[in-house]
Amino acid sequence: MSCPICHKPTQTRFRPFCSQRCADVDLGRWFKGAYRTPSFRQDNDPADLTEAEVAAIRLAQEPSPQ
Ligand SMILES: [Zn+2]
Repeated sequence: MSCPICHKPTQTRFRPFCSQRCADVDLGRWFKGAYRTPSFRQDNDPADLTEAEVAAIRLAQEPSPQ
């Protein structure tokens, strides 16, 4: 499996990416895509909502304390 951003070998730590940088690049693309989708939780402020989603994704990417 290779990184979908730069096609280097995937690192387990950052799967499916090779690095935090590529994960951030993908997150940025997703972020813009979420903004472009009018139906994306339209009952909430899209800016605040997306920021919360980004934070949740970042937390999910962090390694477990144990
Ligand atoms: Zn990469």
